[in-house]
Amino acid sequence: QDAGNDEQRRKGNDGHYVGNSAVASHYNARPEVGIEHREFSPIIGLKKFNNWIKSVLIGKFTHRGTGGKGANVLDIGCGKGGDLNKWRQAKIKLYVALDIADMSIAQAKERYATMRNPSFDAHFYAHDCYAQPISEVLPDQLKVRDLYDNVTMQFCMHYAFESPNKARMMMENVSRYLRPGGVYIGTIPDAQMLLDKLEEVPEDAPELRFGNSCYFIEFTERHHKGMYGHAYRFYLQDAVDDVPEYIVHWDNFVNLANEYRLRLVYKKPFHEVLAEEQDSRDFGGLLRKMGVINEAGESAMDGDQWEAANLYMAFAFEKY
Ligand code: SAM
Repeated sequence: QDAGNDEQRRKGNDGHYVGNSAVASHYNARPEVGIEHREFSPIIGLKKFNNWIKSVLIGKFTHRGTGGKGANVLDIGCGKGGDLNKWRQAKIKLYVALDIADMSIAQAKERYATMRNPSFDAHFYAHDCYAQPISEVLPDQLKVRDLYDNVTMQFCMHYAFESPNKARMMMENVSRYLRPGGVYIGTIPDAQMLLDKLEEVPEDAPELRFGNSCYFIEFTERHHKGMYGHAYRFYLQDAVDDVPEYIVHWDNFVNLANEYRLRLVYKKPFHEVLAEEQDSRDFGGLLRKMGVINEAGESAMDGDQWEAANLYMAFAFEKY
């Protein structure tokens, strides 16, 4: 790859420098395969289930917005805009999305531009949200105190737990423009689950690794001092690979969130979300509609995908 291209990749909207981290180049390198190709993914059942979980969170916690006119939503780590349709379903008014990977941002923009009757305004920015305040890229009208009714971070917050500085910058960005009563939602790996599985790896195993046919997780340290920087690599068939992620110690996260005036209101591993919502009026039918289960009521996930799905949990915090 020539230097010119590299330089372009590092620059986001309007030539804004977005950093050259492993995360950005990894996500930039992942092709957008489109909805038809997605059907051929070996982990399509798992992807559909993750999408259903996000729909549940969005459905449960999206505000109706001031005067019932629809919520203003801030999506940090939005990726390629895969949640745009879910937000449309939630009848929001404004969607402001950021991601460190400028090529993902370009794809998200394109996705929005080709949506039929999006019914909400959307703005996209390439930005390292764990290193710099989002106020650096947001125009004045999008960085107003109490502007946002919801902040969402799906499958991306754990990258911030590399260091206290990054985690704090992330929390600052989440909380700054979220209004009191507004809700912050997200999905992350369940650290305790990962650490329990790590514990089960025999002392004499050549690698600190566990998993099955669709994923494996590899640590370099069995024990790590402190709350930040306990790295592992998560290889998921046809999805995340080779990007370092970091353990999110739950109590530490809740305490940190509290410092930014965010109070925990919901915490559930994915299997509990399913158990609780599968027969609900709002989300039960969606399981079939989104292809998580077929007409015969069978799951689109095999056992190995189900195990991978259950490494994650969902959360919601309310601003006070
Ligand atoms: N939220 C999307 C979804 O649910 O489909 C994307 C999830 S993807 C697994 C993780 C995303 O986090 C990637 O798009 C990545 O570029 C983004 N990300 C990682 N570090 C980031 C940072 N420092 N600032 C902003 N986005 C970041």
